[in-house]
Amino acid sequence: MTDKPKRFPLSLSSIAQKPSRAGQRAEPVRSAGTRVATPQTATLNASRHVPAKIPVTDAARSAPPVRQANAAAVSEQRPSPMVSEAVRKAMVTRVAKQGVKDQKVLAALEAVPRHLFMEPALRSQAYIDASLPIGYHQTISQPYIVARMIEILRNNNNGGALNRVLEIGTGCGYQAAVLSLVAKEVYSIERIKGLHELAKTNLRPMRVANIRLHYGDGMLGLPQVAPFDGIILAAAGMEVPQALLDQMAIGGRLIAPVGDRRQVLQLIERVSKFDWNSTTLEDCHFVPLRPGTLS
Ligand code: SAH
Repeated sequence: MTDKPKRFPLSLSSIAQKPSRAGQRAEPVRSAGTRVATPQTATLNASRHVPAKIPVTDAARSAPPVRQANAAAVSEQRPSPMVSEAVRKAMVTRVAKQGVKDQKVLAALEAVPRHLFMEPALRSQAYIDASLPIGYHQTISQPYIVARMIEILRNNNNGGALNRVLEIGTGCGYQAAVLSLVAKEVYSIERIKGLHELAKTNLRPMRVANIRLHYGDGMLGLPQVAPFDGIILAAAGMEVPQALLDQMAIGGRLIAPVGDRRQVLQLIERVSKFDWNSTTLEDCHFVPLRPGTLS
């Protein structure tokens, strides 16, 4: 039998564009980056979205040039500063300035080509630190909050090691890709079939061996795979579902946006079989956590 796949055999950065001369013309994106600041705009951005334009149809998916193409090859045809490593680096520098200190998380953020998770028309904005529409009134999360939440998960009593992590709300797969660089196994659940498929399409060319995508209601978790030493919710409910608390390993951490119009990040640590500690952290803004599935 073959060996189990090693952690992340192909580095995500290997599909990112190598710095090119064109890539150094980063000004337009940089200045846009300073224009758009931190407040998360997930719901606002999602509501601005016109679902019909997102390429999640079979026809769009089978159109190969965009998602299958090697980014370097694309950049040769159409040099563009938006896909350059330099621009992504600048984004990571901004995220670090906002307070994310965990170098492993920052390195993961730098390695994941966020633009490849977005539809072509929005790629020029990929390295602005903002959430952006991905279809179905949902958004790709803001890089700062992705980094912040993963940093919090890693701040555990295990020296930052994460064995099995569960993400609720795969969306386009971006956060799962970042998580895959800091955790041994990543499980991610999405309730909207079209987005589950989109994430598969986005992640496939990156050949990430340690992500398992599930279509279903993430509020139920994945009891067959539990316990998890990290759980991360990418959508906000009024409270964290009990099923997810039950699926935390002892010593595990869960991070979730909680609330409605006003949302806060909530950190929950499981200290024993029957005890959980909860800490309220910063304000945030996510799309809502909803029950059930949409096919
Ligand atoms: N993780 C994504 C963010 C996606 S937005 C990223 O990397 O950018 C949040 C996602 O949560 C949406 O796609 C939404 O459909 C999904 N979601 C909301 N409620 C859910 C539930 N109960 N189970 C699974 N996914 C859910």
